[in-house]
Amino acid sequence: MRIDTVFLFDLDGTLVDSVYQHVLAWKEALDEEGIPLSVWRIHRKIGMSGGLFTNQLLRETGLAIDPERIDRLRRLHAEAYGRLSKGVVPLPGAKELLTTLTENRIPWAIATSGRMETAAHNLVALGVDPAQVPVVTRDLVKYAKPDPDLFLAAAARLDAPIEHAVIVGDSIWDMLAARRCRGLGVGLLSGGYGTEELERSGAVRVYDDPAMLLEHLDEVGGRR
Ligand SMILES: [Mg+2]
Repeated sequence: MRIDTVFLFDLDGTLVDSVYQHVLAWKEALDEEGIPLSVWRIHRKIGMSGGLFTNQLLRETGLAIDPERIDRLRRLHAEAYGRLSKGVVPLPGAKELLTTLTENRIPWAIATSGRMETAAHNLVALGVDPAQVPVVTRDLVKYAKPDPDLFLAAAARLDAPIEHAVIVGDSIWDMLAARRCRGLGVGLLSGGYGTEELERSGAVRVYDDPAMLLEHLDEVGGRR
């Protein structure tokens, strides 16, 4: 039996260099709401769904966070990210990796825990047109990472079984989601998580960034 591999990519920290801009945007939003949280604690939560993010926030700060406040936080974050994302660029090798997959007729899609209001900036930086490429955002599924819904929806858009998917992400939330839907998790260090944590969360391979993944594409089934 021939297995035709497809690639599903996370966006922030995986294809674009945007993790720290997101962290600082959340920091601004939380400051504005008078919620004290250290920057490193925010970083640990980037890549998970907004709902889980606020639940964790609730646990760590002991604050009551009502739906209106959650909504305000999301708006403040999106506003701040809109400003900070001006400096966001693709990670090394990201554009070349996507081009190589396309040229070799290996289907790929993007699945991000972010909403289109923030993802749109990154897609522009990456030169990806969501009208041409399947892009699944938080707006389109009930639960975001570490639930597998985003990746399942992305695989469905490619008409591919999830077991044939190589799921590339920079956070432990991507790897947990990959494991939960039985895709093959591949970790990148370009979002700031370490090799050990990514492996412990299910990454079968870990590379520095998209450029290094491109060099080793044949190791994960991306035959040219
Ligand atoms: Mg990410």
